[in-house]
Amino acid sequence: MNETFSLLAPRRQGEAHRTARAAYPFRCCVVCGLQVPTCLTVAHLDHAAGNNDPDNLAYLCHTHHWMYDAGLYPLEAIKLLRAHWQQTEGKPTHAARMKDAGAKAAATRKRRTAARKAWETRRQQAET
Ligand SMILES: [Zn+2]
Repeated sequence: MNETFSLLAPRRQGEAHRTARAAYPFRCCVVCGLQVPTCLTVAHLDHAAGNNDPDNLAYLCHTHHWMYDAGLYPLEAIKLLRAHWQQTEGKPTHAARMKDAGAKAAATRKRRTAARKAWETRRQQAET
């Protein structure tokens, strides 16, 4: 661990929050995307409360902060997610899911038409 930021260093939480707010303008839990301000905490990724370097900070909800501190998420994953949320700003894109939407809809219409025609044919044959 870096000697400058020992676990016994003063917490300076106000500075941590100011730094995080400036570095990560889109504020949400980087794991689940929760955006409720009162539910967000600033996590020190190296667990040294005095290290308020922007790269050492991430917004996490209470649950995911606890899970990160318990070692359930790798540091690299948190940093990747943090960068991704800043990039997407929480705006969903359906481009990948909608890529072949028109072709899929056409195929569905074709199958439905064939099924309807087959049902009609069977019904007419049953009557005769
Ligand atoms: Zn969360």
